[in-house]
Amino acid sequence: MEMTCPNHEKCPIFNGVLAGKEITAKSYRRLYCEAGYEKYSACKRYMAKEHYGCCPGELLPNSTLSLEEIGLHYHLEVH
Ligand code: SF4
Repeated sequence: MEMTCPNHEKCPIFNGVLAGKEITAKSYRRLYCEAGYEKYSACKRYMAKEHYGCCPGELLPNSTLSLEEIGLHYHLEVH
């Protein structure tokens, strides 16, 4: 199975475009994005996209918000 998250091409975390957070982005890539299905499927960004069809720009992979809280906080609806 592919080791890298299928969402990586457009993901700001993977692409390290979070200003001033290049080192953090590198850690996230190692811990989630490039660590195989078991890990990237536990990423809150991945989970939000699966559940809501999109992911808020600033949501972090290890956000402590539940999917429900993410939906409420960012006004997302299940489609
Ligand atoms: S694992 Fe999460 S942070 Fe990494 S590319 Fe996928 S959605 Fe983005």
